[in-house]
Amino acid sequence: MKRITFQLRPPASATRSPCDRCRRPSFGGMTCHDCLGKDLADLVQNRGAVLRWEQSLRALVQDERTVLMYAARRSVD
Ligand SMILES: [Zn+2]
Repeated sequence: MKRITFQLRPPASATRSPCDRCRRPSFGGMTCHDCLGKDLADLVQNRGAVLRWEQSLRALVQDERTVLMYAARRSVD
């Protein structure tokens, strides 16, 4: 989950390079979130739970960006 979180919420300095398994773009040249998500779903034997968690994480990332965008606008005023 930590590695998936890193892929969906990378530090600003992270660069993309091919996933070590599927060759799709991945941050830090590590395994991409799709491959890691499949591993996690197999591990817990529940793809639905993993997909729901990933959706929540994506929503969190988007909401953080929105709040930070408004904060940046405020600091310019
Ligand atoms: Zn991959």
